[in-house]
Amino acid sequence: MPRLSAITPSGPATLGNYLGAIRRWAREGRPGDLYFVSDLHGMTTPYHPQRLRARSREMLALLVAAGIEPEQVFVQSDLLPQLGPLTWVLECSCSFGEAARMTQFKEKSAARELAATPVRVGLFTYPVLMAADILLQGADEVPVGDDQAQHVELARALARRFNGAYGEAFVVPEAVTPPAAARVRDLSDPSRKMDKSARDSAGVLFVMDDPDLLARKVRRAVTDGLGRLEYRPDEQPGLANLLEILAACTGQPVRAVAAGFSAYGEVKKAVTEAVIDELRPLRERMRGLLEDTTELDRIRKRGAMVATDRGAHRLATALRLAGVG
Ligand code: AMP
Repeated sequence: MPRLSAITPSGPATLGNYLGAIRRWAREGRPGDLYFVSDLHGMTTPYHPQRLRARSREMLALLVAAGIEPEQVFVQSDLLPQLGPLTWVLECSCSFGEAARMTQFKEKSAARELAATPVRVGLFTYPVLMAADILLQGADEVPVGDDQAQHVELARALARRFNGAYGEAFVVPEAVTPPAAARVRDLSDPSRKMDKSARDSAGVLFVMDDPDLLARKVRRAVTDGLGRLEYRPDEQPGLANLLEILAACTGQPVRAVAAGFSAYGEVKKAVTEAVIDELRPLRERMRGLLEDTTELDRIRKRGAMVATDRGAHRLATALRLAGVG
């Protein structure tokens, strides 16, 4: 049974996305696992259509360039003809109170209200769309961080409720917490995760940044005035983050990495080199795919076809049992 993971094209992919998720998907994924570019999730807050389209393409190219099998990737909006009706069926199984309890909605809508910007209904209902993503593909495991665990719980509840009320249509999915992968933090503010939609990108290393820009960002990374070259995430979060990045790129334990230096400048130099080396082949493959539009279009079409075929009988069963269609 497949495991399902996604990346939202809400900004250009970061080193955090790569080291924390995509590289592992490529290395540890099983043949039946599925990976998708969740472009529909990127519409829940203000966005630019052309940029969303371009970034979805980049993300697709990145997943393939990272080494994930092309048949295992797809773009979410290519499944709109199936996701639309299934989301409606699931919305009609979901209570308002249940959706309103989602912590991520509460946090994101509070932030938008504070900034006096409208909260989109899509931000409220997107966990149900996420349930449709999962249930349509029959995924039984969904690897998530803390921020998404509640959404997978909702998908479980909706699958159970539908199966109980109307008949067996869905596999009941489970949230799985992947073993600690790299948690990459913002180089300018190590209290925050490195985030592709961060307002200030000075501390964010993007996969497509050129080597000079990567070097500049690492050089300006925040450290501390203690001058102690040890791995102490609580006391020296900036240095610890650099050491973790180095460890993730070189495949060494973080404490062993820390032991090799006597000055912060040396650490930054080593991080710069390691990141450039890690990203160079990836960027080259990605660029090749982005330039070969015929090949990327072919990969996208094939991924959409495989995913659509996989979900077709589940959607048909759900509609039949729900008394529609
Ligand atoms: P998102 O950026 O929310 O679309 O997440 C895509 C994947 O990247 C998820 O599996 C996240 O857990 C992972 N991810 C995002 N940012 C980081 C980060 N700074 N460090 C490690 N993993 C990350």
